[in-house]
Amino acid sequence: MPAPEPIPAHGQFGSDAPVNAMTVDVEDYFQVSAFEEQVGPGRWKDYPLRVRANTDRLLQLFSDSETKATFFMLGWVAEKEPGLVNDIVAGGHELASHGWSHRRVTTQRPDEFRADVRRTRAVLEDLGGVQVSGYRAASYSVSLDTLWALEVLADEGYRYSSSICPIRHDHYGIPGFPRFAFRLAANGILEVPVTTLAIGGRNVPCGGGGWFRLAPYAFTRWALRRINRVERQPAVFYLHPWEIDTGQPRVDGISGRARFRHYLNLGRTEPRLRQLLTDFRWDRMDRVFQPGEHETGEVRCA
Ligand SMILES: [Zn+2]
Repeated sequence: MPAPEPIPAHGQFGSDAPVNAMTVDVEDYFQVSAFEEQVGPGRWKDYPLRVRANTDRLLQLFSDSETKATFFMLGWVAEKEPGLVNDIVAGGHELASHGWSHRRVTTQRPDEFRADVRRTRAVLEDLGGVQVSGYRAASYSVSLDTLWALEVLADEGYRYSSSICPIRHDHYGIPGFPRFAFRLAANGILEVPVTTLAIGGRNVPCGGGGWFRLAPYAFTRWALRRINRVERQPAVFYLHPWEIDTGQPRVDGISGRARFRHYLNLGRTEPRLRQLLTDFRWDRMDRVFQPGEHETGEVRCA
């Protein structure tokens, strides 16, 4: 079956300084996809948790700069650290779902995926006392083969997803897909891809993760300014609590490539993030994109 044609769901912003979306994927250092062969969920109990302290540091950074953000949280983490759910909600941030145990969508059958996103949403809503409307797949793992996931999410009450990265990468990505918000059907769920910049016919990541630690900060600032001022679009930026944690225990037995990606420039994340919070305006995903206000047609840009 051919892939459905994406329908753009974004207008152009009038202002040259649109509000961007700041997001955090709340998982611990041993739960990342790059380590999943060495440290599966069955071994997670062997590793000391650091996610609470690291996320609290991020909450303090956001508080210092009066920033509100969206926290895509693993159900597994929420169950272990219910106090962290409270800290996020009490800070005025958006609580959203990152699935239960960081399984990529590409390894799940539709019925397993449905059970996973239903359970995670129920537990987050119960612990947080707020409605959960956003979802982000582990490792941006909604691919051409798993676009059914967007229908399941809509069915389960989610109003937006941020689960696709329109680049070519060894672990994820749909290279030809839109760089900005879209739907796959007029009434379908809103998908807001993580931000990339189109350079020379290719989409280049500039919305966070390992790229934020690898590239000089000046590149991120230049790229996001271009997206805001020339393309008149909000950016979606993401990071993980473990990316500010230089003291995290090292995981043994991983490949050189995984080690490079995970441990590179960890000490640079926090100062760069402080600068990023000063240089741009930020808010929660649900307020920047307002997925519930416009079930059809264009998203109204804040
Ligand atoms: Zn993740």
